[in-house]
Amino acid sequence: LTILSIESSCDETAVSIIKALKDDQGNITKINILAHEVESQNESHAPFGGVVPEVAARDHLAKIYDITNTALTKAKIKNSELNAIAVTMGPGLIGALMVGVLFARGLALSLQIPLISVNHVDAHLAPALLLKKFTPKNDINIWHETQKISFPALALTVSGGHCHLSLLKSIQEKTILGKSLDDACGEAFDKVAKLLGLNYPGGPFIEVLAKEAELKGNTNEFSFPSKPSNKENRYNFSYSGIKTAVMEVIRKETGIKKGKITGKDLSIEKKQSIAYAFQQAAINQLYDRVENALKDNPEIQTILIAGGVAQNLKFREIFSSINKQVIFAPPSLCSDNATMIGLQALLNSNQNGFNDHPYAKYF
Ligand code: ATP
Ligand code: MG
Ligand code: FE
Repeated sequence: LTILSIESSCDETAVSIIKALKDDQGNITKINILAHEVESQNESHAPFGGVVPEVAARDHLAKIYDITNTALTKAKIKNSELNAIAVTMGPGLIGALMVGVLFARGLALSLQIPLISVNHVDAHLAPALLLKKFTPKNDINIWHETQKISFPALALTVSGGHCHLSLLKSIQEKTILGKSLDDACGEAFDKVAKLLGLNYPGGPFIEVLAKEAELKGNTNEFSFPSKPSNKENRYNFSYSGIKTAVMEVIRKETGIKKGKITGKDLSIEKKQSIAYAFQQAAINQLYDRVENALKDNPEIQTILIAGGVAQNLKFREIFSSINKQVIFAPPSLCSDNATMIGLQALLNSNQNGFNDHPYAKYF
């Protein structure tokens, strides 16, 4: 089974080609990634400190054809060898999604092969479910053994727009336990970065500053609330409170009572200390929710972790200490990419065929 997959839900234009082997029961046993092309639009959006939907859509349109051809060339695959096209159907920016979906649909129609629609948030978890490791430089065009996971498993997906805690009875039976009530975790990293005058996307820059604070021993100057105030819900997340608390600290430190905060009046030491305290609070909240789920569901064997924020090394360090099988998505498959869309398409095609997504009717 060879699938070409397309991702265009936000600010990455990505195309991958993957090949999979299945056993007699339909379980995926081996996966070969033949092409993994990701083009980020970070530079286009950086001046605005966040993604501009219209810019994103136009950028996808300008790039998608060439990236698809590059993927086919690198994979040494002809169109006629493809068995299916997979595409992110949502959630995401509608203009950005339309570019990918309509391109994918045209390709599938012209080749007379099925179109598999994929939910982007589900797809973030697919690399943790299926792949032991993957680095785009070295692990292209080799057969990867699939992951052996003990169920039930707890899954934490922490990305720029979502924060999901789910319980998996099997690779395909997923129930969502908790979500973010307001901002997602990655979004909070990006917004706090903006307040500190850092570049977009802010997560990696916060991580660097936090590390510098740690090396200097500046870890106690500030502390931010890590638990959501609503005590009844043990699984939901909330990040807008931490963001506001960071803003208040910066106003106090700089004496700027009104107007925009750009971080330019803060010393580098203050920025480092604030970044450290914010990162710690952000990760502690995730840890706290996971701890609750583990207490309530002692039968859980495995913890799966995915999404852009899961690249953060402090986050990985803290979660690695949990006394369970902890599986992180490979770092290069944490942020948006099309390989995860292809992997999720494999899981979808196993379960309930093609074109079952609620948005399908709009295309
Ligand atoms: P969604 O998948 O919810 O639609 P998205 O696709 O924009 O959102 P991802 O690509 O999974 O999200 O992740 C991007 C997010 O991850 C950004 O918010 C970014 O700041 C954050 N991020 C990336 N690297 C790090 C890091 N090292 N530490 C913390 N956050 C990080
Ligand atoms: Mg992005
Ligand atoms: Fe994403």
